[in-house]
Amino acid sequence: MKKQKLAILGSTGSIGTQSLEIIRQHPDKFEVIALSANSNWKLLAEQVKEFNPEFTLIGDESHAKDLEKVCSGATLLSGKKHLPELASLENVDTVLNALVGYSGFDSTLAAIKAGKRVALANKESLVVGGEIITEELKKSNAELIPVDSEHSAMLQCLTGESLDNIEKIIITASGGPFRTFTKEQLQNVTVEQALNHPNWDMGAKITIDSSTMMNKGLEIIEAHWLFDIPVHKIQPVIHPQSIIHSMITFIDGSSKAQLGLPDMKVPIIYSLSYPERLDLDTPRMNWNEAQNLTFEPVDFDKFPCVRLAMESIETGGYAPAILNAANEVAVQRFLNKEIGYIHIPEIVEKSLANIDWNDSLNAETLKEIDKETRVFAKSIIK
Ligand code: NDP
Ligand code: MG
Repeated sequence: MKKQKLAILGSTGSIGTQSLEIIRQHPDKFEVIALSANSNWKLLAEQVKEFNPEFTLIGDESHAKDLEKVCSGATLLSGKKHLPELASLENVDTVLNALVGYSGFDSTLAAIKAGKRVALANKESLVVGGEIITEELKKSNAELIPVDSEHSAMLQCLTGESLDNIEKIIITASGGPFRTFTKEQLQNVTVEQALNHPNWDMGAKITIDSSTMMNKGLEIIEAHWLFDIPVHKIQPVIHPQSIIHSMITFIDGSSKAQLGLPDMKVPIIYSLSYPERLDLDTPRMNWNEAQNLTFEPVDFDKFPCVRLAMESIETGGYAPAILNAANEVAVQRFLNKEIGYIHIPEIVEKSLANIDWNDSLNAETLKEIDKETRVFAKSIIK
């Protein structure tokens, strides 16, 4: 594999720091050209000292001064508005987008327009602007490779296959910390309980999304755009052990699955090395022990976010962007302890019903609808 020059957007987060661990294991395969963080300037400064990037970006401008010394001799950018510049730097081959939420969309689009390989962790980019992104992909020689473990599993199952031969995608879900809760028990869920995911250690936003199963809804939309599959052919299934990361059933009735212990470093490294593989020092399955892999159907009544997400893609247009913006606001309000846990799907549902938009879909109007939805989602359920 030719040495890859990387821009890592969101390098201080869960995915960002795990990607730097991989790079540490393969200094001959990767070179860090750019790093970015939002406010965690201390960790960013340590990363700059270790990886010596040509470009560093800090979103929170008040911390630019703190980074000046450590970045001397290289370029320091201050403010989120510069993220798309990092995503389209001439001497970068691959942009790893590990930003969280809608904030990642502009950078994904800029990287695609600049013909980069985009290793996409920021699933929200495809949720809000899947149509715009896939149109741009057709026009450029850019590549969009998923980092999300389920979509990496799908890609691995699809290698050597034709998309036309897919009968169904079975997307697995751990079910999160509240899989066995009743609807009544969900009423009293606390922030601390929701932040405690059984199988994965992730950033706060995706951890809450996993607990409401909105994460699975967002991932169904992500799979729809990545593999050009109608939503009715994507079936979510609960698999509490998180060993099978997803499956594809083909038109002859044969199914392929991709397995491994839950460890995001596996799909991260695959997104960087694809279609090749690189060695990775992570724990392996122990096949000398009995294994128990179980599956359950999704309870759409208990977890309405999955249904809302699937319906939003059937509605089309701006509905997935409204769903995403309302969810981002609701999750933040829940984390701030302003609303109860069960208000998250309520805010999403009310936003979808109340925000009306007929303009044609483009990156500019997407921004406006995102803003309008946020105002509405902040104003309801006081
Ligand atoms: P984190 O919250 O851990 O990290 C987010 C990163 O983005 C941090 O570097 C943060 O900087 C930066 N950031 C946050 N908000 C902004 C903003 N508004 N503008 C610019 N930079 C920002 O998130 P995760 O790593 O968990 O998730 C990243 C993406 O990957 C999400 O889309 C998530 O859904 C997806 N994903 C994550 C998985 C996981 O295991 N974590 C698994 C599969 C997908 P700072 O540290 O300074 O706040
Ligand atoms: Mg996932």
